[in-house]
Amino acid sequence: MIEKTFVLLKPDAVKRGLVGNIISRFERVGLKIVACKFIQPSRELAEKHYPLERREFVEGIGKKTLENYREMGIDPVKEIGVSDPYEIGKIVRGWLIDFIISDPVLAIVLEGPGAVEIVRKLVGHTLPVKADPGTIRGDLSFDSAFFANAKKRPIKNLIHASGNFEEAEYEISLWFTKDEIYNYKRAEEEVMY
Ligand code: UDP
Ligand code: MG
Repeated sequence: MIEKTFVLLKPDAVKRGLVGNIISRFERVGLKIVACKFIQPSRELAEKHYPLERREFVEGIGKKTLENYREMGIDPVKEIGVSDPYEIGKIVRGWLIDFIISDPVLAIVLEGPGAVEIVRKLVGHTLPVKADPGTIRGDLSFDSAFFANAKKRPIKNLIHASGNFEEAEYEISLWFTKDEIYNYKRAEEEVMY
């Protein structure tokens, strides 16, 4: 029941001075910080974080991009040269990797009951323009596919959060060694657990 999940405050969060604001949302909901690292990732690490082999992930970003183009009435072939979701996903993934390694990021492991789902809820929709108020992406960013795709850059949505338990396990072991993850009690565990 007590889960760990991984979040990455992307360069836009760091450069906009939103690190404290974002971390405080996790702390106040009761999640425990068990690991934290400020790092400018290598291309190799970023490639592993967004693995090309995870076909459903790459295709997923491609599908999201295609859907955005359709909503905007843009022909993907004219705009980006391809219309296959996996091929589009590969292109957007490339923009994403270039962005993630462009400046430092803050990698964090959070722990708590149902941590993966709680964090996704606090983070909000992938597109800030569609994210609910009260969520990190909804409160702190207005980015939309319109600007991102037109400029051929990733959506600036401030944060990455593991999508499920398996993704969390993989990402935690990718970014942290075992001895970088701490075990301690938070004050309110007595009341909440
Ligand atoms: N992304 C993008 N354009 C898209 C879909 C995704 O730039 O049309 C970027 C965005 O930064 C997102 C990341 O790719 O956070 C990973 O996509 P995913 O579908 O996993 O969204 P998330 O889990 O971050 O909400
Ligand atoms: Mg994801």
